[in-house]
Amino acid sequence: MELLYEGKAKKIFKTENPEEVICQFKDSLTAFNGEKKEEEEGKGSLNCQITSIIFQALEKEGIPTHFLKELSPTQLLVKRVEIIPIEVVVRNIVAGSLARRLGLPEGEKLPFPIVEFYYKNDDLNDPLINDDHALILGLVENREELEQLREYGKKVNRFLIHFFDKIGLTLVDFKIEFGKDKEGKIILADEITPDSCRLWDKKTGKKMDKDLFRFNLGNIKEAYQEVLNRLKEGQ
Ligand code: UDP
Repeated sequence: MELLYEGKAKKIFKTENPEEVICQFKDSLTAFNGEKKEEEEGKGSLNCQITSIIFQALEKEGIPTHFLKELSPTQLLVKRVEIIPIEVVVRNIVAGSLARRLGLPEGEKLPFPIVEFYYKNDDLNDPLINDDHALILGLVENREELEQLREYGKKVNRFLIHFFDKIGLTLVDFKIEFGKDKEGKIILADEITPDSCRLWDKKTGKKMDKDLFRFNLGNIKEAYQEVLNRLKEGQ
């Protein structure tokens, strides 16, 4: 297979159909803009299956995604899109960079969900940006597109809060990415996994996401496996 692109957590391969690509989930884990790195055998497969379940559920909710089908435990067939270089972060509870930036206590529930945009650019360390910055950088074509990203972010959040709550997990925050298909339509792309979300166990408060790796708090594979098991049982 011809490799089109390799990122930190995924590889994208060409298919015979120019409108479809294969997204292969890797076992590598990175944090702090690639400064901390590790291989965790089986992580790619867990994240691939988790994304598959969540994207299919989102499709049923009327949120368009790039998902087409599962090809193997580590590979999804997805629609080819042009990724919009904006990370859309949605937060329900204070954690991570929000706690550091605003000096708010981790774990405090926010009165309403916050949507933030970050410029996807490793050299600049993915800076937080506002609408004007996004337009000046040409990351989107107009303000309507930013509004669409914000509305999708909130809609995905409303769905995921409930989806995870049903399986005993609190959705603290998450990052999503969007792409444009060949008609220029904005659809959800990339992944939704414990690498890109903060998930806390409702009963114990235990972290079940990449913070375990970021701060050496425990075994990520056990936690990710538990998330996948609960998602499967919850279906
Ligand atoms: N996130 C991500 N990729 C990034 C940055 C953040 O998936 O490059 C996710 C992160 O896992 C968390 C949410 O987005 O669920 C908010 O992250 P935050 O801004 O707090 O940054 P962090 O402190 O995790 O670097």
